[in-house]
Amino acid sequence: MVLVYIIRQKVSNMAWKLDSNIFKRYYIDTLKSISCCDLCGANVSDSYLLGYSLSQALLCQSCVNDLPYFNQSLIAGNLLRWPAVHRALPNIHFEQLFALSPYIYPFNKWLAQMKYLGRFELASLFSVLLCAQWQAMIMNQTIIPINLVLAVPLHIKKWQVRGYNQAHLIAKTFAETLSLPYDANLVLRVKNNDSQMGKTGSQRRKNLANAFALQRKLGSHIKHVLIVDDVVTTGTTVSEISKLLKQAGVETVTLVTVCLTVPNAKDNGPVIS
Ligand SMILES: [Zn+2]
Repeated sequence: MVLVYIIRQKVSNMAWKLDSNIFKRYYIDTLKSISCCDLCGANVSDSYLLGYSLSQALLCQSCVNDLPYFNQSLIAGNLLRWPAVHRALPNIHFEQLFALSPYIYPFNKWLAQMKYLGRFELASLFSVLLCAQWQAMIMNQTIIPINLVLAVPLHIKKWQVRGYNQAHLIAKTFAETLSLPYDANLVLRVKNNDSQMGKTGSQRRKNLANAFALQRKLGSHIKHVLIVDDVVTTGTTVSEISKLLKQAGVETVTLVTVCLTVPNAKDNGPVIS
């Protein structure tokens, strides 16, 4: 009797396993059939970029290859070497500016969708693209090893309304992927200032004065910090954070951003690969 019971249980478990495998295969096949590229609508199979899988990032391989990146080799991984940017970002307190793309399609559309429509999956896409470009750049350039990664913080009231900080979502995955230490709480936004949109550089600096604070003392080994943001226009926000970090002993700050609002769009040509 016991033997019959055991055999029945085993057969029953096998049947369940069989059903579960069939269901898993059906689920994957269905997902594949409904997954289509966010830009051209083509079916997305396995898209790769320098070893990073983009199959869950909703982009087909052709569209990945066509994205309008800055040509990092022309600017040696630092957009501050490009005269148009250097002129447009006076009085900044960070040493390196690394951006994926000018603020143009499709990045401008994606950034707006992530910020205002809650498309969180785009944060992973941005992180993967940033990691791939960053690693390609450091293969050709000598850069100082990064001790800490930070994200531009939101004021608690803005965070409560939006429910998330898009820069944090990008920075966290970026740091994890590159095995760099990340601190989401070191810099606090203590002033809920007006939007920076439409303000000149000096108005932005005034608006952001004393807007940030460090939550704790920095370890003496932290000399080179990388700050992640989604879009940079004048660099004032990261510049203010950089000032604080440098007062705390940091020597260099690198700003990594998905998009840079290029001062004169006509100047884009030579720097887009
Ligand atoms: Zn596509």
